Amino acid sequence: KKKHFVAQKVKLFRASDPLLSVLMWGVNHSINELSHVQIPIMLMPDDFKAYSKIKVIVHHKNKSFMNSPLCFSDFCNSLTRSAPLNSEAQGRSGARFHTSYDKRYVIKTISSEDVAEMHNILKKYHQFIVECHGNTLLPQFLGMYRLTVDGDETYMIVTRNVFSHRLSVYKKYDLKVRGKERRTHEKKNTAKELPTYKDNDFINDGQKIYINEENKKMFLEKLRKDVEFLAQLKLMDYSLLVGIHDVERAEQEEVESEENEAEEEGESDGGGIGTPPDSPSNTLDSTKPLSPGEFDPTIDVYAIKSNESAPRKEVYFMAIIDILQHYDAKKKAAHAAKTVKHGAGAEISTVNPEQYSKRFYDFITTILS
Ligand code: AMP
Ligand code: AMP
Repeated sequence: KKKHFVAQKVKLFRASDPLLSVLMWGVNHSINELSHVQIPIMLMPDDFKAYSKIKVIVHHKNKSFMNSPLCFSDFCNSLTRSAPLNSEAQGRSGARFHTSYDKRYVIKTISSEDVAEMHNILKKYHQFIVECHGNTLLPQFLGMYRLTVDGDETYMIVTRNVFSHRLSVYKKYDLKVRGKERRTHEKKNTAKELPTYKDNDFINDGQKIYINEENKKMFLEKLRKDVEFLAQLKLMDYSLLVGIHDVERAEQEEVESEENEAEEEGESDGGGIGTPPDSPSNTLDSTKPLSPGEFDPTIDVYAIKSNESAPRKEVYFMAIIDILQHYDAKKKAAHAAKTVKHGAGAEISTVNPEQYSKRFYDFITTILS
């Protein structure tokens, strides 16, 4: 049985976590299968259904793998050349969160409700993406998977990273609607990772996003279309994820880390976090040398440079995340909770998706100076 797996030849998918190696194997397998499929000019309803389901025996453990192709396939290498990295960012309720080794994609564990919602919106989402020529701040969904490892099912979704694959972000915000007492509760001093700050932190920090009029206009135009679309689908509670890269600060940090590396030279080099031997180390970066604060807009698609009059040279990364909350599902859940607390017939006051989209848009316009 073990030999069957090895007979997949050429590639071996090594990762610290069996779930990740199954994911890598599955992405590779399904993309290879898809490469023989003629992409139709018109997509039919069946094209949105799960494409393939496979069971493999990996190290004597039963794992299965399911993939919806969602029409894209360029991310196979990013996901399979080397194991995805455990991300610092923690989802709500401690959901698993990974980035591909080259940091271009993020891999998130989602609930079966989210999967059902994906299936609900997929056709309209696809149509919207085609109509706006991909010019959107909505998440770019690249693949959705169900993995079964030892009888446990895990759903995973792959989207494009909002942040850069090479410019580091020193501050992150998850913004929804002003006035909604949202503040981070993450421990700022003890945690080594970067916390994601919220609306009130943004306001209290006196944070500003300095972009020029033209960029601002383009950004808000996209945002307006996106939130209108989300309201149509009755989706709400999404966030604008904002990351800030400070060019000087990043240069400084680079110098410091080089100094540290120089100091540590000669010490152990088998420390587990190094790149695996078969992975191409930074081939991406070596193709086109970019000066500090520069980026390739075809890769860092959400990047916007600070304007001329900004006090610091910065690059901003802004896009919408977490769009899978449906109004009806939310109401149902809220109703159930209220009923437990206050008995049947209790009133629930949730803003509707239309109101949410307006408040969200208005709030975001105010943060762009
Ligand atoms: P979520 O579980 O979707 O609320 O995500 C938790 C955190 O993960 C967010 O606050 C972000 O810091 C990060 N995150 C989520 N989605 C992305 C993405 N597409 N790109 C980069 N970071 C993300
Ligand atoms: P499953 O992948 O069968 O465990 O399904 C996870 C959730 O997504 C369930 O709530 C299903 O009803 C829903 N779902 C799965 N596949 C589809 C599909 N092709 N169309 C619509 N909903 C689906």
